[in-house]
Amino acid sequence: MKTSLTTSAAGKTRLRLAVRGAVQGVGFRPFVFRLATGLQLAGWVNNSPQGVFIEVEGPRAMLEKFLLRLEAEKPPRSFIQSLEASWLDVADYTDFEIRESETGGGKTALVLPDIATCPDCLREILDPANRRYRYPFTNCTNCGPRFSIVELLPYDRANTSMKSFTMCPQCQAEYDDPRDRRFHAQPNACLVCGPRLELWQGRTGFQPVSDSNKNRDRRDACPTNNDALLAAAQGICEGKIVAVKGIGGFQLIVDARDEAAVKRLRERKQREEKPFALMFPSLESVKAECEVSPLEERLLRSAECPIVLLRRLSTLNSQLSTSIAPGNPHLGAMLPYTPLHHLLLAELGFPVVATSGNLSDEPICTDERDALERLHDVADDFLVHNRPIVRHVDDSIVRIMLDRELVLRRARGYAPLPISLSSQLSTFNSQPVLAVGAHLKNTVALSVGNQVFLSQHIGDLETEQANHAFRRVIADFEKLYEAKPQVIAADLHPDYLSTTYALERRAPARLESTALNQAETVLDVPLIVRVQHHIAHVLSCMAENELSPPALGVSWDGTGYGTDGTIWGGEFFLVTDKTVERAAHLRPFRLPGGERAVKEPRRVALGLLYENFGDSIFERKDLAPVAAFSKTELAASKTMLAKQLNSPVTTSMGRLFDAIASLVNLRQQMRFEGQAAMELEFALDGVNTDEHYNLSPVTGHPSLVLDWSPMIEAILSDVQKGVATGRISAKFHNALAEAVVAVAERIGERRVVLSGGCFQNRYLTERTVRRLQAEGFQPYWHQRVPPNDGGIALGQIAAAIRGQHEIVNHKS
Ligand SMILES: [Zn+2]
Ligand SMILES: [Zn+2]
Repeated sequence: MKTSLTTSAAGKTRLRLAVRGAVQGVGFRPFVFRLATGLQLAGWVNNSPQGVFIEVEGPRAMLEKFLLRLEAEKPPRSFIQSLEASWLDVADYTDFEIRESETGGGKTALVLPDIATCPDCLREILDPANRRYRYPFTNCTNCGPRFSIVELLPYDRANTSMKSFTMCPQCQAEYDDPRDRRFHAQPNACLVCGPRLELWQGRTGFQPVSDSNKNRDRRDACPTNNDALLAAAQGICEGKIVAVKGIGGFQLIVDARDEAAVKRLRERKQREEKPFALMFPSLESVKAECEVSPLEERLLRSAECPIVLLRRLSTLNSQLSTSIAPGNPHLGAMLPYTPLHHLLLAELGFPVVATSGNLSDEPICTDERDALERLHDVADDFLVHNRPIVRHVDDSIVRIMLDRELVLRRARGYAPLPISLSSQLSTFNSQPVLAVGAHLKNTVALSVGNQVFLSQHIGDLETEQANHAFRRVIADFEKLYEAKPQVIAADLHPDYLSTTYALERRAPARLESTALNQAETVLDVPLIVRVQHHIAHVLSCMAENELSPPALGVSWDGTGYGTDGTIWGGEFFLVTDKTVERAAHLRPFRLPGGERAVKEPRRVALGLLYENFGDSIFERKDLAPVAAFSKTELAASKTMLAKQLNSPVTTSMGRLFDAIASLVNLRQQMRFEGQAAMELEFALDGVNTDEHYNLSPVTGHPSLVLDWSPMIEAILSDVQKGVATGRISAKFHNALAEAVVAVAERIGERRVVLSGGCFQNRYLTERTVRRLQAEGFQPYWHQRVPPNDGGIALGQIAAAIRGQHEIVNHKS
């Protein structure tokens, strides 16, 4: 059931929109004024070098109406290339005004994200009479590649990867004509002069044909494009895996209805159970498989065109392979966003799996030769083109939660749009700060003035490939924004690759001193600040909600290095102007086997049970986690726990989820990160109860402690009584929401910030937000920045600016 969100006491909230695109000089501001006043909303609209900014304030339902009508009824000559929404606290506007245009101030050049094909271009490629009929690289000033082709600023064709394509006279004429939709459209191209497709055969004997192509008569280009496309489509219909070079990297595509093909993709990609995203030929075909609300529909069709997590309809009538997202009530769905995808999907007429073109956990391939090398064991065919991809940009993932957007992976369509820091933060800051992010789901960020440029998703820094991508993105950002960071913010974890990188840059660099003409030693970056992982989560959420202290931060995730050297993850912080204090945490327990426990919920459960019951637990073969071990394994774990060997101490909430999943025998070993917690969430689907276990804060030193012991005993008793897993899961989730309320009451702070990977969990987030509101607290959660580790870099920047960190000064 869809539930609506109650907002502040007065029932009012504030919506800020940053609108970019063809929205200036087309009557957009008067239109916004009419729309807002017609809906009796207060606020303002203005023009700035960065786009049109709108703030409207009023009842939630009216603001949603405003948002939907803004897109649906916008002036005919306008086109929205990017729209980012933030829901903020009310500012108490009394009327609606068109404000003076901002001129000076933020002169930072903006690079726009890649934009999904606009309706005009789509019409052209489907019109047999048009000269761009079926041309897969059609674009205009309203759509097409941006971030993925820019090499340098300013954004001119000579500074993009389109520079090697000389425009034909017709394209040049469009490009030069101020009345044309392609006036100064930097990637402008057509069949005659632009990039072309080729189909390379991978597994069955590859022949690179591109070199001979250079000399080929240009008239041949037209059939080449179409033939390659049709051959790729044919392959997909036959169950082949086709690697497609898209806008920001390769995707692996197979027929989503073909069970054997999807299974083959899983085997070859070494991705056993993690859900695959789908691309559908049309909105109607999405609706045949999923529930789609008006906000979700807007998102699917937006210029950002992300993967949207949608609730599946009954799988009884589904035509999709069961291996796409086993046991998952949601599907990641997207619509075609380039002419190439539109043509391919129109040819196929059925949904396809469209997953990143990489081996599990590596960054996506962007270059066809690299793709051929890395993916030759995965893909049967390669549909490639000769427009170089300057930087990798994955598909973004967004879901609607509590009736607003929540970005889970920020990449295509969003990166590298900046997050503006509130004036309170930015006044302290004049020097550029680089934040190098976390270890998993890594992103980096660079602050320039009051803008924070958050990078596209880079991925887990586990492989050499990812390490390269990480360094490449940092170099890229510093070059693009001509910013030399004076401060680098890094995680507290001493072994993170990102931390090592930051410390390397503190090392002396040689610089020639012109005055004395002798070598002088200087530091590349004078200051490194180390920020605790979970504090960064909270500050990230506060920054994007423009919230100043004080606030109580709830930071729940799998793993982060604590200031005491243990593994944190079930943390509460009281953030004030000057300090961040650890206000509460989960009762600690040990993880027998260390790293291995992260992949084996049974180990986590064993650690938890041992903490509570001691040695006797090893005799309890009636308990699912104990029974999940062999005799030898169990003996080894016993030694580890008894002697405290390779059994690190943790307060991680992510691990508590794993332990519960193991206790109810839902999952003992994981195939991908977060699987047990996801399955525990899915298990409560359809259960409707307010019952909860007891997870109350008890006084500890120096922080409150959430003692899970009574809850674990109650769960064991419920399991014994045969209570359904879904009900146990619901009572567990509810207990967590109650724990947040109880800690907030004990601490006495009204504003509560929810961050960390656990708050990707929809039930947990919704329940906690509602319970907090019901008890008179004001909850804040993520919107444009991921709650997971993809948002850490923003929090690190906020910490560096606020001075809430441990400073590593250079030795002078
Ligand atoms: Zn267009
Ligand atoms: Zn042309």
